[in-house]
Amino acid sequence: MLIGVLALQGAFHEHITKLNDLKIEAIPIRTSAELQKVDGLIIPGGESTSMAIVSGREPNFLDELRQFSRNKPTWGTCAGMIFLAERLIGTKKNGQVTIGGLDATVARNFFGSQVDSFETMLQVPELGEKPIRAVFIRAPVMVEKGDSVKVIAQLEENEIVAARQKNILVTSFHPELTQDDRRWHHLCQYPHIAHHVKHLSIQLNGEL
Ligand code: GLN
Repeated sequence: MLIGVLALQGAFHEHITKLNDLKIEAIPIRTSAELQKVDGLIIPGGESTSMAIVSGREPNFLDELRQFSRNKPTWGTCAGMIFLAERLIGTKKNGQVTIGGLDATVARNFFGSQVDSFETMLQVPELGEKPIRAVFIRAPVMVEKGDSVKVIAQLEENEIVAARQKNILVTSFHPELTQDDRRWHHLCQYPHIAHHVKHLSIQLNGEL
């Protein structure tokens, strides 16, 4: 099992470190050739507009990413969730490029600017009873979704902050920044990250 972490911009290093801590092999992805080698992909947090611009520099890379996220396990965190969204709110006038695949509308910077960043304890029943600490940094929220998208975590006012759809998993927050909980990255040990979320709750409950 080899996991790729899109490494054009943002918090890719933290994801790789966390995967390596769990003895999961991970490589940074910057080219189509590297993307071909991996079984699953993490698109990290950062800045989705910059990510789109940088991925557009290598010919065909955006299309290769689109192809990948429609077929293979792909997990988007924060800006990664924005990059996977089919529909966006909070972009500049002419919109911004995404790779899409996630049948949802995602609102960028939903809580405000950097100073409105926060941490909270989140209930994620599919990952066990113990709440998970979640770090939100200029975070997006899913404000509308198609039937194939299953919600896995919401905040107190019902904002959708984690969801899955077939091979895709998205989290509005940054699990790579919470050292004390490895449950999200543990999912990457399995070939189909999103498919196994439900199944894993049995194994992970109380274990990590
Ligand atoms: N607000 C950023 C964006 O629009 C995402 C922030 C993050 O990834 N922490 O891309």
